[in-house]
Amino acid sequence: MVLRLSRMMLHTLRDAPADAETTSHKLLVRAGYVRRSSAGVWIWLPLGKRVLDNVARVVREEMDAIGAQEVILPALLPREAYETTGRWSEYGDELFRLKDRKGADYLLGPTHEEIFTQVVKDQCSSYKDLPVILYQVQNKYRDEARPRAGVLRGREFLMKDSYSFDTTDEGLAESYRLHREAYIKIFNRLGFDFRIVSAVSGAMGGSASEEFLAPAVSGEDTFADCPSCGYAANSEAVTAVVPAAEAVDHPPVEELDTPDTPTIETLAAHLGVPASATLKNLLVKVDGEIVAFGVPGDREVDLGKLAGHLAPAEVELVTAEDFEGRPDLVRGYVGPQGLDGVRYYADPRVAAGTSWITGANKPGKHARNVVAGRDFEVDRYLDVVTVEAGDPCPNCGSALNLDRAIEIGHIFQLGRKYADAFALDVLGQNGKPVRVTMGSYGIGVTRAVAALAEQLADDQGLCWPREIAPADVHVVAAGKAAQTEAALEVAGKLEAAGVRVIVDDRAGVSPGVKFTDAELIGVPTILIVGRRAAEGIVELKDRRTGDREEISVEAAIARLTS
Ligand code: ATP
Ligand code: MG
Repeated sequence: MVLRLSRMMLHTLRDAPADAETTSHKLLVRAGYVRRSSAGVWIWLPLGKRVLDNVARVVREEMDAIGAQEVILPALLPREAYETTGRWSEYGDELFRLKDRKGADYLLGPTHEEIFTQVVKDQCSSYKDLPVILYQVQNKYRDEARPRAGVLRGREFLMKDSYSFDTTDEGLAESYRLHREAYIKIFNRLGFDFRIVSAVSGAMGGSASEEFLAPAVSGEDTFADCPSCGYAANSEAVTAVVPAAEAVDHPPVEELDTPDTPTIETLAAHLGVPASATLKNLLVKVDGEIVAFGVPGDREVDLGKLAGHLAPAEVELVTAEDFEGRPDLVRGYVGPQGLDGVRYYADPRVAAGTSWITGANKPGKHARNVVAGRDFEVDRYLDVVTVEAGDPCPNCGSALNLDRAIEIGHIFQLGRKYADAFALDVLGQNGKPVRVTMGSYGIGVTRAVAALAEQLADDQGLCWPREIAPADVHVVAAGKAAQTEAALEVAGKLEAAGVRVIVDDRAGVSPGVKFTDAELIGVPTILIVGRRAAEGIVELKDRRTGDREEISVEAAIARLTS
């Protein structure tokens, strides 16, 4: 079917919604691809639906090619399965929970490890039934704290999630490798500029989890990237490189008068030292107990990372009330030396033998020459400060670059965590039960549409690669009835030759408006039927390069069908 704009429900907008900050949000709304229903919940209009379907088709083709089998599981899930793994409560506020009329608890699936594990437990009983890879393309529900940037971070969004089931670690590694290869093909076909980065720190086991990131200024992820050796990791996964402390005899601790210096900035300015020479002591509550956490003054603690390392313990920041009745904790002037009865955790850079300027545990006083291992002990080291551009590469030591990106996919070797929770065993070759090992792999289908828009759009509008564009060619009837007739005829011929066509045959719309809309909509080739239509001459325009060429109708059709 030729898509005729005269008959299509399409309303492009000159202005972006007031709350839209990112390019993709602005353009997908302006070009009539999506409309907001409620916060983080989106309506996909005809053009948007076509692009979304194209992304899903590419994903399905490559998943099928690795032997993955498509299924569809419910989005409405019973509480019990998630209770079994503890995720009913662990998921916190991000989980949409609801009750049926009988009062039974349900949730809207945020990701489906539990249910897939149950399906395989029900369907597979022997090692001969494995390996198996199952996938679905389905809406997921997450009550994100900050739904933002249009469809980039929604509360309802389409995801391809797949799960692999193997009896051996080697089998899991192979299922993981198959996914990795399939993802590379998918993101190449979709036209992405992307990077594969490690998602978990080396300490937790190297390549067991990788993310596919699309570099974009609007991205919420930061990744580190080594220009020398090719190392790339999510900034959360970069491990600190700690130079060995020099064995020097530090002078004894000396107290300094530092009035009105409760922050690192005021302290560094007062003493004329770099922030990196100071030791900042953050107080947090771990399961209700106050713990001090020491980091170099020029570093920020990534609280998410800290919570991750200390999980399942609950981590909170201290409040003013926590200082009441604690004269030993002097706000703004805490130091690890002489902190009695408070556990002290620190960044690995606070290594034994390093010397610091830090709080003296008295108002308005700091101390210098406070040496780790001499003046205070570290109970536990945690690598949880934010990475900074220029930090050494954990692999080769060169200075790292930091860039923003959008996470478009994630592959993860889960191991036996879920199989253990559900006692998922199959009978092995020797007749004894074998515990199954799993992988879980996601691609954000709706997010991919927005991320591609972010990477490929220009000042004029969206700009799709042919594989996922809503059509191959956008025919513009620029003139009167004769041009419209000629445009419909060309469109019909293209369509008959298997080319997907949008034709702008709207009456009473100026050529200028039609050109602007064509650029905004972003189909890769624009074919203009204008002044020279009667001579059989049309104009072909490449949406990306802007190159234009006058050409005969026959030659244009030949070009577009080749
Ligand atoms: P993020 O860190 O961005 O929240 P995540 O780590 O929670 O992502 P996964 O649970 O690994 O994401 O989900 C798999 C894929 O689903 C992600 O790689 C991403 O492409 C997509 N995705 C996740 N959350 C959202 C969302 N709120 N809106 C749209 N797509 C999402
Ligand atoms: Mg998330």
